[in-house]
Amino acid sequence: MSQRDYYEKDYYGVLGVAKGASQADVSKAYRKLARELHPDARPGDTDAETRFKQVSEAYSVLSNPEKRQEYDRVRDLVGSGGFGGLGGQSAGGFGGGGPGGFGGNGRFGGAQNINVEDLLGGLFGSGSTFGGSGQTRQAGTSARRGRDLETQLRLSFADAMAGVTTTLRVAGRAPCSVCFGTGAKPGTPVETCPTCNGVGAVSNNQGLFGFSEPCPTCGGSGRIVPQPCEHCGGSGAEIRNRDIRARIPAGVRDGVRIRLPGKGEAGSYGGPPGDLYVNVGVEGHQLFGRRGDDLTLHVPVTFSEAALGTKVRIPTLDEPVTLKVPAGTESGRTLRVKGRGGHRSGGRRGDLLVTIDVAVPRKLTRTQRKLLEDYAATEDAAVRQHLDAALDVAAQEA
Ligand SMILES: [Zn+2]
Ligand SMILES: [Zn+2]
Repeated sequence: MSQRDYYEKDYYGVLGVAKGASQADVSKAYRKLARELHPDARPGDTDAETRFKQVSEAYSVLSNPEKRQEYDRVRDLVGSGGFGGLGGQSAGGFGGGGPGGFGGNGRFGGAQNINVEDLLGGLFGSGSTFGGSGQTRQAGTSARRGRDLETQLRLSFADAMAGVTTTLRVAGRAPCSVCFGTGAKPGTPVETCPTCNGVGAVSNNQGLFGFSEPCPTCGGSGRIVPQPCEHCGGSGAEIRNRDIRARIPAGVRDGVRIRLPGKGEAGSYGGPPGDLYVNVGVEGHQLFGRRGDDLTLHVPVTFSEAALGTKVRIPTLDEPVTLKVPAGTESGRTLRVKGRGGHRSGGRRGDLLVTIDVAVPRKLTRTQRKLLEDYAATEDAAVRQHLDAALDVAAQEA
């Protein structure tokens, strides 16, 4: 863009804002117009595409305080008359897509530093690029990243603990089964784009400012397909179901979201694939609970077992083990069995936390009652000593 452009183009008019408009108003006007005119929103509408480029150019200058000041200075020299209307109609306009033109694109990287994707707030999906210039490419054949996909996976408790390799069925755009995603007719080559040497972007140094823009020849992919695949029309993608093998690591927890990079929808025209997100649900276990990497288990023992101590066979995720319950174990005490819990991500295992529940018999035989009464006569009544002390204090105060 040169000063000549500044003389000829009415950027304020293109955006429909007053000359003294604030930066916020300039951005707001641009966003509104960009949404309306975006080639993805109006495919095949060349008028809209031309206006979109004009709007983008106007914004690129007015959003940059230095450039805007320079533009205002140049326009003041010209005066206000005679240059109204949309810029691109004049000689040297940017609609032509020739050398130095403002080719259709979605990323004005480099020196200009404007990210249209950000401004549009992801309205058109991540990685969207706009149509080509209309001169060298058909609209809609630019490199395009595949969308991210999401799927659900339900695992049994045991599978979640042990880890599992499973097959996920995914619908949507997949690599073309004829050309395997290259977009080239089988037996024909995929060539490096001669315009950008495979980089996908070209720099455009003209006049005062330098620009980097998606290569107009390859649409940003850096590659050229001389003979497109007939099955997919050269996009490299087709709609079909795919089966994806996925390794779910041991110890995965309920509600975890696993990202499988590149396993989402296939990209088009040389664009990269999206990602696949797997939302994992884990079923509960009839005996075991989970606390982080540890497993929990409740084990009932009788009063005499708790008082005298005992050994109990308990289940684990693997083979049963013998748990030693020490003499004098109180109800609710938790005993730790090392290394019998769930798997940590590093491969080490958590512990099994066993909570002892002392069972109290609901009914007693005549013999049991007699024995317990004899035992009770020997019990130490000091068990509630601290409560008795409190009661004494309360009685004295009353
Ligand atoms: Zn194909
Ligand atoms: Zn190229």
